Amino acid sequence: MTFKNLQLNSAMLRAVKRVGYSEPTPIQRRTIPHILNGQDIVGCAQTGSGKTAAFALPIVQMLEPERGKRRIRVLVLAPTRELAAQIDEEFGKFSHESSLRHVAIFGGVGQQPQVDSLRRGVDIVVATPGRLQDLIDQGYVRLDQVEYFVLDEADRMLDMGFINDVKRIIKRLPKARQTMLFSATMPQAIQDLSKSILTDPVKVEANPHSTTVENVAQSIYFVEGGDKRALLKHILQDPASVRVLVFTRTKHRANRLAQQLNRARIPAEAIHGNKSQTARTKALARFKSGQTAVLVATDIAARGLDIESVSHVINFDLPNIPESYVHRIGRTARAGASGIAYSFCDVNERKFLRDIESLIRQPIAVVGEHPYMSTIKPPQAPTAERKAPNGNRSRRGRRSRARDRSRVSHHRAS
Ligand code: AMP
Repeated sequence: MTFKNLQLNSAMLRAVKRVGYSEPTPIQRRTIPHILNGQDIVGCAQTGSGKTAAFALPIVQMLEPERGKRRIRVLVLAPTRELAAQIDEEFGKFSHESSLRHVAIFGGVGQQPQVDSLRRGVDIVVATPGRLQDLIDQGYVRLDQVEYFVLDEADRMLDMGFINDVKRIIKRLPKARQTMLFSATMPQAIQDLSKSILTDPVKVEANPHSTTVENVAQSIYFVEGGDKRALLKHILQDPASVRVLVFTRTKHRANRLAQQLNRARIPAEAIHGNKSQTARTKALARFKSGQTAVLVATDIAARGLDIESVSHVINFDLPNIPESYVHRIGRTARAGASGIAYSFCDVNERKFLRDIESLIRQPIAVVGEHPYMSTIKPPQAPTAERKAPNGNRSRRGRRSRARDRSRVSHHRAS
């Protein structure tokens, strides 16, 4: 199927061509015609599925340029600054030929440029809830003319404690509008919210198994916690590790790991919620340009990060929320590209691994031989491939084994 089959007009088809999308992703195929039909949407999809274009393309197509004073006709709410900035960018790409104006509104940066844009008049606002609420309270934003409302990553809004802000903002929207809600998971609170804000919605699912998980070559390294750093350095020696996104559980661990890698002369930076927006944007730019080989991130900071050609995602720590695993590895398989994801699993993380495998409904391949094999037995007996050969961990043994190509075996975590 091509974009032409989706009832997109010639301006949108040119925009799609200009940005280099050759065919629509599953979520785009299933969503665009319904949005163009005027229907509300509840979409089960995550970042990486192409969901931004799934709503941005039809919205831009439906927005007729207007004469006179501009009014906010589209509101998109996103949980993080990065995601808001990226969605705004995407709107920019698709509205290239039109006179539509758009702005991203988020905290962590001065509000004046945002206020100036609002004063000049915009058609499309992409915002995080906190800063938007501030600007509403200060009288800079009116939402009573909104025709299209998108709530993106609704489950993350909930996780991050924004749901009440979101509800307060929704109360300001006109009842007669078209609403699209996207969420990677559908916890009860989001199902309830959907019922209250959507009218007779079309349900669209872009199954993570087909969009992300199947496109990523995933493997697990069983390793003791204290050896994770050495294992990471070992993996980073591979010349194929050109742009590596590493996930840790906490901000503190992200900072420490980045410092340790730098000491080992591996250019690395940490990105997390405690860093200023400017610091995060700069770190991201250095990573994108290849100046920094390794970006160490926490889940929240990495939410929605759109980084082209990440060569590897490495889960230095396994996430305790299994959905986060899917979000993380999605960073290396953007819109159909294939990627590589390695996960380090110490004995305390075995339970997280079981949860992840049950969510993605497939076992993750275990690297059967590597220089830092864990010798600790998990609660249930491991298979032979999961143990270090002879338990030999001498330096010489490590080095010689490091030269071996890693063997991968398929076993469900016990
Ligand atoms: P999203 O899920 O919206 O964050 O999109 C993930 C990435 O896929 C972004 O880098 C988009 O620019 C890209 N993308 C979206 N749709 C397509 C498509 N049909 N073909 C190729 N890339 C796409």
